[in-house]
This record gives sequence, structure tokens and C-alpha cells, in this order.
Amino acid sequence: MLTCSKVNLSLAVTAKRPDGYHDLDSLFYPFRDPSDEIRLDDAPAASGVAIRCDAPGVPLEPEKNLCGKAVYAYCKAAGMDVPGLVIHLEKHIPVAAGMGGGSADGAAVLRLLQERFRALSQERLESIAFSLGADVPFFLNPRPSHVTGAGEHLVPVDGLPERLPILLAAPQFPVSAAWAYQHMDLARAVAEPPRTNELIDALRRRDFESAAQFMRNDLEHALFVKFPLLVLLRDFLLKHGALRAMVSGSGPTILALFRDDAAAHAAHARAASEFDPCVRFLLPE
Ligand code: ATP
Repeated sequence: MLTCSKVNLSLAVTAKRPDGYHDLDSLFYPFRDPSDEIRLDDAPAASGVAIRCDAPGVPLEPEKNLCGKAVYAYCKAAGMDVPGLVIHLEKHIPVAAGMGGGSADGAAVLRLLQERFRALSQERLESIAFSLGADVPFFLNPRPSHVTGAGEHLVPVDGLPERLPILLAAPQFPVSAAWAYQHMDLARAVAEPPRTNELIDALRRRDFESAAQFMRNDLEHALFVKFPLLVLLRDFLLKHGALRAMVSGSGPTILALFRDDAAAHAAHARAASEFDPCVRFLLPE
């Protein structure tokens, strides 16, 4: 199965909850590419769950990898013994980059298990997904969505362009989502009301200039302070035609929106020669 990746076209933090999660008001937008590829092979029951993956930074212990966690959570909820499984994971989504790669993998495993066993209701599957991570429910059925709560309230958004003129710049270092949330300025974020509906309206009109005004990420300030490369990248992309350049999710990927594909391609060529090999550039599909 091929997974999806995502960006947050806007990520407003609206509150910190007593359970430690943050409430968001966010527009999630999926991409078919970059994607990871996942295959489940049967193995003798006694051998348990094994993960095969060559990508650096991806934990191979099943109790740490979201693919393994998904198997355990599914079987527990279904009252099933954990089957013997080898999970082959081919990573293409940058790891710990704010593009939801691990969450996408966890959701894909839940979907593969549900296809096989049909042991859980859709509601139960969604609640297990949320227990694995706030972004996992989105990847059960990836489509542009207005997301509130900590990630569990998803309203599909119709009428957005099928493709957006976006360039992604993924610096080759990880940022932990927990770090980004711990270091954000909560008071500053909650003082600014979310304008996600205005962003959605502008995107529906394909009015990217206006959309750029409503794009926002409340986590990015701390990342710009700690990682000056991100400031250089953002400013370079703005200088080379981006209408908006900002962090996606908990970073460090920078997402840049352009007027059209030609502008995104032109900036890609310039930025790749400037920042290669510290940054991986992607024109997502
Ligand atoms: P999000 O955008 O959902 O916050 P992210 O894209 O920033 O997530 P991930 O790529 O999901 O980050 O990885 C975060 C951490 O999760 C990694 O550093 C890694 O230790 C762990 N992890 C567990 N399972 C996976 C997986 N299948 N793929 C990648 N990382 C995984």
C-alpha cells in the first residue's frame, strides 16, 4: 500500500488541554507523492511482529515504530492474538519533518489490518488511530480537511484545487514534534483568532495571493530562532517568487506557495543549487 504525506496549509494553536495535547485549528492537505510503501507479509505466529526498513532515523523495534504500534493496538481492540507479521517499510517521506510520515504509516497498517480482518467498526478504528497519534485519523482517509480538537475532529473540505503550486524544502535534520510544542509561544498564538475559513475560501477561488495572507503556523517562531537555516530558506524562497514560505506542521520542512507551477519550478532550480545537499526539495503531487 502506498501512503500519503501532508502539509498544514495553516496550523493555529487555540488552547493547551489538561491532557497535554494542544487544540488546533488547521487545514490539512494530503499529497500522493511523496509517499511511503508498506507491505505486510505473514510469518509464523511465534515470531511476532518485525519491521524491515533501511531509512535512517526510523525505529525498527515494533513497540516504537508506528507500524508495529498499529498492529498491537488493532489486535488489542479486536481481542485477537497478535499474528506473525513482517512489515516492509520503504520510506520516501522525510522522517521527523512535519509531513506526517510516521502517522501515515500507522494509518496504512490499520487500514491493511481492517481490510484483512474487518474486526472493528469505523468509529473504533478512528479512536484507535487517535490513540496512536493526533495526525493518524487524518490518514485513514486522506483528503483536504479542516481539523480541530487535537486532530480528532475532521471536516472534509471540498472544492480545493487538486494540485497546488507548492515547493517543499526539507532540511536534512529531524525536529521532534514534542520539542516544537514545548517551545511555542502559546499566549501569542491564542491571542490571534484562526482564519482557516478565509484561507479555504481563497483557495477555492484559486486566489493564491489572498490565501498566502491567511497561511500561518504557530509553531514556527521557535524553529526560526533555533535553526537559522530555516530563516535563510524562507527568505530565499520569498525572494524567488514564493507568495508565502512557512514551516509545515512541527517542522523543519518549509512549505512555499507560488502563483503557479512555473514559478514553483523556477524557484526549485534556484534553491536546489543554493542549498544542496543540506536540504531536500520536493515538488509534491
Ligand atoms: P507529524 O507531522 O505527524 O508530527 P513528523 O512528520 O514530524 O510527524 P515522523 O516522520 O512521523 O514525524 O517521525 C517522528 C518520529 O517518530 C521519528 O523521529 C521516529 O523516531 C518515530 N517513528 C515511529 N514510527 C515511524 C515511522 N513509521 N516512520 C518514521 N518515523 C517513525
